[in-house]
Amino acid sequence: MSEKTLFQKIADREIPADIVYEDDDALCFRDINPQAPIHLLIVPKKPIVRIAEASPEDQSTLGHLLLTARKVAEQEGFAEDGFRTVINNGRNGGEEVPHLHLHILAGRQMKWPPG
Ligand code: AMP
Repeated sequence: MSEKTLFQKIADREIPADIVYEDDDALCFRDINPQAPIHLLIVPKKPIVRIAEASPEDQSTLGHLLLTARKVAEQEGFAEDGFRTVINNGRNGGEEVPHLHLHILAGRQMKWPPG
C-alpha cells in the first residue's frame, strides 16, 4: 500500500489543520503559508495525484471541487468580492504536494499574469 499523502493525513486528523469545511468527498483548510489574506486549500478525500493523472471516473470528484469552492466562498463571505482558484500541476506548475488540491486566494486584488 502506498504511503498516505500529507493531505490524506490531514483528512484523517493525523496532522492538525485549520479546517473550514468538510463533506463526504472534500475537505477545505487554511494554507499554512498564506499567499493572500485568505488562502484555502480544497482537497478531494479520494487521493487523485494531479490533474495530469485524473481519469474519466474522477469527473464528479473534479466537479465537486469547484462547487465546493463556490460553497466555501459563500460561507466565508468573499464570494461577492471575488477570489482566484489555482491548481498547480507538476514541476513547471509549482506543485509540491502530490495530492490534487485547489488553492483559493481571496481578500486582495489579484494580478495577472501570475508569477
Ligand atoms: P502546491 O505547491 O500547489 O503543491 O501547494 C501545496 C500547498 O500546501 C502550499 O501552499 C503549502 O503552503 C501548503 N501546505 C503544506 N503543508 C501544509 C500543512 N501542513 N497545512 C496546510 N497547508 C500546507
